[in-house]
Amino acid sequence: MPIYNDIIKTLNIKVDNLESIDYAFKNNHSYYFIKLVSRGVFCPRCGRYITRIQTYDSISLNHSIFISHHTTVIYKRRRYICPLCRVTESEPNPFQSSHPKLTNETVKNVLILLKDYNQTFSMVARKTNLSPTIVQTIFDEHVQIKRKPLSEAICIDEFYFSRKAENKYSCLLINFKNGMVIDVLPSRKKANLRSYFRNIPQHERERVKYVSMDLYDNCRDIVKIYLPYALICADRFHIMKIINNALNRIRCDVMNKYSENKKSDEYYLLKHKNNLLFKNSLDINDTKSDRNRHFKMRYTEGQTLDMILEIDSKLKEAYDLKELYCIFCEANVDIDFRKELLETVIVEYKLSDIEYMRNIAMTLENWEEEIINSFHIYDGRKLSNGPIEGRNRIVKIILRLANGYTNFNRFRNRLLYVLNKHETYSEQILDVHKIRKTGTPKKKR
Ligand SMILES: [Zn+2]
Repeated sequence: MPIYNDIIKTLNIKVDNLESIDYAFKNNHSYYFIKLVSRGVFCPRCGRYITRIQTYDSISLNHSIFISHHTTVIYKRRRYICPLCRVTESEPNPFQSSHPKLTNETVKNVLILLKDYNQTFSMVARKTNLSPTIVQTIFDEHVQIKRKPLSEAICIDEFYFSRKAENKYSCLLINFKNGMVIDVLPSRKKANLRSYFRNIPQHERERVKYVSMDLYDNCRDIVKIYLPYALICADRFHIMKIINNALNRIRCDVMNKYSENKKSDEYYLLKHKNNLLFKNSLDINDTKSDRNRHFKMRYTEGQTLDMILEIDSKLKEAYDLKELYCIFCEANVDIDFRKELLETVIVEYKLSDIEYMRNIAMTLENWEEEIINSFHIYDGRKLSNGPIEGRNRIVKIILRLANGYTNFNRFRNRLLYVLNKHETYSEQILDVHKIRKTGTPKKKR
């Protein structure tokens, strides 16, 4: 039966255990009719070896291994009967999973497909000819991932989870060294963070040496208490984002002044060339010129940027302050001198005429120590939430494709399963009670 080799292999049947196999194809659907060799079983009650067949059950199993068409295995299963006890027992088979209607290979296939973050439960369901609910059930039963141990250097970052959930923001905990996700926390609220860290054994908490985080006071307070030996580092890139946001607001304010004449040079520059404001000045090209359609002239990036900065003195001031922070970040100096530099930066921001910038001065002051800490080197790199950035992007994709999740535990398992490359599923079926109960009940109509 060489043409059946593939199917026999995916069903895990040894050739000498196969009595017959037949095939039919109808409406783009494959059917395999399978019967195993009669080998008898042991009576579950008296232990006697029994070979008397009472009946055959016809069992239909979804065997989703080909994307192009659906496959069903129709298995003629023997039921033996003990002549003494009258107890019946079905013959064992190597392909039926613990899900009554699915083969082992189907379950495996579902779990492999779900490892890809571009796949939603519904997409996998369509591909495997199953219902989304069954796909979710398979996932819940086989993927329940435990927290990883805390590492020496960790990053904490919040992300937007769901508008419908009790906790709108969740947190990612990541190992700074290898980017592995340690855990996904359901909430960024102080009480939740406290109970989370309190439940981690003390010796493990005391091992943490560095924690990089966004500028979130609640998180800082909790880390100070529960990770007592950790140096807290404020993420420099997050601060850069705040400064850029302020610069962008000023750009918009200035641009709106020219909005009545949308053909003006000023409006054109602020609207279409604003990316130059946010670029690091070291990356601004001053040698290569490009033809500008608006001016019908050739300009370099540097010349265009100069024109933008001449439009408004406030914009120029905001830009210079942004650059000052960049210089502070990039300066190759020791910690003591870095402290002095940061003091200078704060003073300049405080003296600004722009309210946004004065507000940033307060933030910088509030996080002064943590900003300086972030220049410590660990594992050859300065500490930051850099390792989180790429992960955050995947989190967003997963949430967007699924149109949000309502069950946080399922979402947490999915993230850990997808984001940690070597994470795998359990072969055994796990208790789903814990996962299901926190699902938000559907609203009654
Ligand atoms: Zn018996």
